[in-house]
This record gives sequence, structure tokens and C-alpha cells, in this order.
Amino acid sequence: MKKILISLSLVLAFCWSAAAQEYLPKWQEGYMDIHTIATGRGDATFIVMPDGTTLMIDAGDNGKVKDKQHPDNSKRAGEWQSIYMKKILAGLPGNGKVDYAMITHFHDDHMGDVQEMLPGTHGYGLSGITLVGELVGYNKLLDRAYPKYDFPSKKKVADANKGFMEEYHKFVQYQMSQGMEMEQFKVGALNQIKMVKNPKPYAKKFEIRNLAANAQVWTGKGTKAEKQYTCDPKLFDENVNSCAIRITYGNFRYFNGGDLSGGAQKDLYKAKDRDMETPVAKVCGKVDVAKANHHGYYDTCNGFFLNTVSPDVLIIDARSQNHPVPSTMSRMVDHMVWPAKGEFYITVDQACKKLGEELWSNFKPWGHIVVRVYEGGKEYQVFVLDADKLDYPVIYTSEIKKAGNKR
Ligand SMILES: [Zn+2]
Repeated sequence: MKKILISLSLVLAFCWSAAAQEYLPKWQEGYMDIHTIATGRGDATFIVMPDGTTLMIDAGDNGKVKDKQHPDNSKRAGEWQSIYMKKILAGLPGNGKVDYAMITHFHDDHMGDVQEMLPGTHGYGLSGITLVGELVGYNKLLDRAYPKYDFPSKKKVADANKGFMEEYHKFVQYQMSQGMEMEQFKVGALNQIKMVKNPKPYAKKFEIRNLAANAQVWTGKGTKAEKQYTCDPKLFDENVNSCAIRITYGNFRYFNGGDLSGGAQKDLYKAKDRDMETPVAKVCGKVDVAKANHHGYYDTCNGFFLNTVSPDVLIIDARSQNHPVPSTMSRMVDHMVWPAKGEFYITVDQACKKLGEELWSNFKPWGHIVVRVYEGGKEYQVFVLDADKLDYPVIYTSEIKKAGNKR
């Protein structure tokens, strides 16, 4: 009898929690969803355009398998990112592959690492972008340097991710032989990345503008770009070369600029021309949602960038206790620096201790961050999903926000 009672109460407890559990309502045509996937190993953003076309920006894995990872350390970051994306892709039109994958720059936390990569069966190792490519597949892949990989020099490109670049080149070659298209990211281009499923109903409301890469920035006129440096580009660190895009859907705008830098930092970086944020902010203008550049590290999110791009929602894709650093977070929440201060979201809680309660309390609960833009791009809402559970329950829901606010 006691046993029956215990199992009955267990069943009731389970039903109760299942009833209380909330999930992200299903994507439907006309919605644009921007998922920032939390693993704690590197960046991965997955975007579903209004017609169901998909764009993945980065699939990072810094190869530190012993560091804390979400949901757990039993799989590589690329496997978790693939599981997350496959669940969404299953409900979308198309061949189940990611339509566009784009690598902002050649660092491990954006594309994978040679350390601890899994053996592949096609002659290249699997981590980050090559692992997701193997498990999910891409119809088209874009990076900043295809096909020559020579800016600022062949050596600099190879050294940006030692050992793994060779695996990546082999991956590209094999995948192209299997039908994947490959392109260099063109700075200034309009709709190099575009809807391919059912674009017609959204054609006048939707665009993707390529703002920057290789330290070149769109001029704001036509598709022209110009270089933003006078120093020897061989002094550049890879972050300066990051690809940046702006997505517009109706009144809504989103910015993602990889690890773009916002200024020189003598002790860490050689180049003096490192402020890409200022020229990029000038041509980007105000957006609703932005991913913070370079995980909110020391050299990013300068005052001009914050005030000009001035997102109502700022997302930090984090993988270390320095994401963001206290000095950058203090600047972001300082009303004297950025009076319009937006809401802050973050993927993982590694920086919690270093930031301290006062700074950390500016963040909404951490996890997978989903920005859902509703039909026509007039309104949007932010959801945070539990990054430690495989059914991704919703742990935070924002109010519905008006897009194009203050613009
Ligand atoms: Zn990074």
C-alpha cells in the first residue's frame, strides 16, 4: 500500500511539473527566430528567417573539454549545438540542412579547435564548424577569406587557429565535392545571404546587409566598402577581421559582429587601428537587438558603439569568467556612458562571481536566448530556455516589445 502511495504521488508530482512546464511556442511562417545557443564553449547563433530559411553564425568549441559545459560534458559543443538546431530544422521546410553557415573569424570559440576533436571518416577532424557540418550539413558556407586565405597574410590566417585550419580546408574541399556551395563574405553586399524558401511575401520587409570583414567597412552607399586602417594589417589580431551583419525585418533590426574590437589595447594587441566598432556603428545605426562584440571583453562595447547601435536587448555569448569583464559591464550599465541602456542577456553564468552581485544582477536568467520577431517585424519578445535540460523549458519570458523603438 505504502509503495502504491509513493508511486502515485510521484506520478502526480511529475504531472504537476509537466503541466507547469512551459515551452517555446512553435515557429510559424512569418516569424523570425534568433537563437543564441548556450554551451559555454563558444559562440553559436541560429537564425530562422520569416520564410524558414536558416542561417547559422559560428559554431564554436574552444576544445577545453574539462571546463564546465552545458547541458553537460558527455558530448562536444558541436554535438549539443547540432541537437539543438536539428530539433528546430525538423519543423522547417527544406532538406534538413542549414541553408547558410557563416564563420565570423577563424578563432576556435567560433569554429572549433584541433584539441580534443573527434576523428572523422572523410579525412578531417571534427570540432565546431566541421562537427556541425558533419551532423547537420550546410547548403552554403561563407567565411572571410575563401578561396585564397591570404589576408592579412597566409601565415596569419593559418596561425589564427593552428592545426585546425588544415582540418577546415579539408572539410571545405570534401563538402564541396558533395554539393556544398562556398563563398567569401563580401563587405557591403546586400542579400548575399537571403531567403531561399518562400521569399516573396517578405521581400520588401527583409534584408541582410554585410557591414564589415577584414577591417573593411561598408560605406553606407550602394555596396561599396573601404578599409579602416593605416597601419600594417599584418599587425592585426584575428578579431579585427570579424564579419559583421545587420538583419532588418520590418521595423526590427539585429546586429552580429563576431569579435569586432572597439579600440587599441597596447598590452594585449599590436595594431593601433583596432577600433572597428566606431565605423561599423556609424553605418549600422540603431538596432533592437545586438550580440555584444567579443563577448564583452576589455576592448569592446565602446561608448560610441553603445550609444549609436543602442540595442534595447544586448546579448553576451559567454564562455569564460571574463565574459564580460567587470570594467566593460560597469561601462554598459553606467547611465553617463549609455543613457538609453538596454536589457542584458547572457548565455552562461561563468562571470557571475567575478562581476559580483551588483553587476551580475543586471542580467536576466542565463541560458539559450531566443529572440522571436513576430509577423511583419513590428513586435518581438525574448525567451530564455534552460540550457541544462534537453527539452529546453522556458525559464524567462520578456514582455512583447515594439520594434524600431527610438529610431
Ligand atoms: Zn570569441
